[in-house]
Amino acid sequence: MRGIQDVYTASKKVVDFWGYDNKAVLYSSSIGAFVFPVSLGLIQHTVFRILAITNGSIFASALGLAAVGMSGCAASVALTEASDRLRERAYFSWREPSYSALPKPYSLNNHEDLKLLTVYFIGTVVVFKACRGRFSSVLPSSVKHPGAFANVGIVGSHRYAHKSQRVKIMQMGRKLGCHTCGRKWFSKSFIADHQPPLALSHNNRGKKYLFGVLRYPKTQQKLYPQCKKCSLKQQKHIQSPKNYSAVVTHASSLRIYHLFLPLPYIWAFIRDVAYYI
Ligand SMILES: [Zn+2]
Repeated sequence: MRGIQDVYTASKKVVDFWGYDNKAVLYSSSIGAFVFPVSLGLIQHTVFRILAITNGSIFASALGLAAVGMSGCAASVALTEASDRLRERAYFSWREPSYSALPKPYSLNNHEDLKLLTVYFIGTVVVFKACRGRFSSVLPSSVKHPGAFANVGIVGSHRYAHKSQRVKIMQMGRKLGCHTCGRKWFSKSFIADHQPPLALSHNNRGKKYLFGVLRYPKTQQKLYPQCKKCSLKQQKHIQSPKNYSAVVTHASSLRIYHLFLPLPYIWAFIRDVAYYI
């Protein structure tokens, strides 16, 4: 009990001491919350799309983790900078400035800066995971594999989906969105997409045997909801892989794991509480 009381007294002291300007906290946190998904989108477009690294690649999870952590650092730096500017403005307009400024992790040549960025990196990764995010889903999708928004899917066959499967796919699509681009609201109907695509499956007619002797292992077909736009992209790519890319980006499809908590404030608060205990 004593420990809890200590933390309570210390928290109260810290809150009184900081005397945060609520508006500054709200505005700077909003900027951080905006920068986080924008940064993830930029990495998706400028790095992963150009290098054609998709969510089905071997290192997708590790690369996704790096992208999430780095975007968290970018958002934290943006938040810190915004907080600093707002404090200055508050001072010039004769409003009471806050006492304690957030530490700035910019120069990177001292130990403190690196420690701070490491905390933001790990913090963002933990929040992302707590919101049930998959690291590979911040990479673009490929029309040849289950996309960044694919869940377990439903078991299919090498034939077209029958009616009950199509009904299930429609329900899944409305709830989870297109498995390739994540679009949910702007798509009225969803197609049952075979993965791997039927045209590429070895078990299809004429492709059952390798050199006419060895039988290809039977691949398990799965069905996922896909929007018409992505389905068309898939068709074009399969017909002409040289002219049409298999990569589909989805930076504007936001999910709960794109949430960014104002980590610099949280960390500064924790450190102050620890100091007072
Ligand atoms: Zn789509």
